[in-house]
Amino acid sequence: MISKEHFKRPNNRLEGEQEPKVAALDAQDEQDLPVLVCPECKAAFDRDVREETDFVCPRCGALWQMSARERALWLADEGTFAEMDASLECADRLHFPGYAEKLAKTQRDTGEREGVVTGTAEIDGESCALFCMDPFFIMGSMGAAVGEKITRLFECALEKRLPVVGYTVSGGARIQEGMFSLLQMAKTSGAVMRHGNEGLFYVAVLTHPTTGGVVASFAMEADVILAEPLALIGFAGPRVIEQTLRQKLPEGFQRAEFLLQKGFVDRIVPRNEQKRELALLLKLNRKGADR
Ligand SMILES: [Zn+2]
Repeated sequence: MISKEHFKRPNNRLEGEQEPKVAALDAQDEQDLPVLVCPECKAAFDRDVREETDFVCPRCGALWQMSARERALWLADEGTFAEMDASLECADRLHFPGYAEKLAKTQRDTGEREGVVTGTAEIDGESCALFCMDPFFIMGSMGAAVGEKITRLFECALEKRLPVVGYTVSGGARIQEGMFSLLQMAKTSGAVMRHGNEGLFYVAVLTHPTTGGVVASFAMEADVILAEPLALIGFAGPRVIEQTLRQKLPEGFQRAEFLLQKGFVDRIVPRNEQKRELALLLKLNRKGADR
């Protein structure tokens, strides 16, 4: 019988020293409050300021976390986002202790069935298939339903000859689903490859944090890989690596800026430029494909 105790391990002296600088708004708990408090600078704002400033703190510049649905609606031209597989959700096949309750609570708190929102959309008039992962849904972890929704999106894009735009945020594979979760890495990768083999375009935008099985599959398989400033991107997190190597990692290790230097990321794009940049990439690609 698996118990939560199997996944516990003692803390060590290196832990907690590399906390992310990207502001994690606990949006779901705070959604009912009339004001929003920036977790980074503690300034209070009217809730409407979020859309007006592209979810960036106007005082300190911190990037506020966005839910998958907020991201999709913010990015897509008004009224163009058509959601797919909205009711698809995972099953607790392993009867993992506490998973069914956690899932039910997360669904209640977020109003979402699963950790990714998928559909077709237009970005500045350019048609695409779009997926956005959700940091508030069990840390954007990839379970069977997340993998299935992303796979179906690529299959739909292949059928309709559409490019794919994907926003990733993930703590990695969803441990509560064990092998069913890990299987999604191979399944999504197959779908990405079939889409790419037909000459169709895929651009990923890696947001904070994108880690684990998602990095080891579809996040890093895009034709063009963009990232948000300061995003933590890596397979194992810095704390795990430090504990394994028993040494401190260099400053900024696994941040988007570090990965850009090493060639793993093509470009870092601030939030207020993302829509324009994505539309330009889609347009250039469409023109190239038309020739
Ligand atoms: Zn702030």
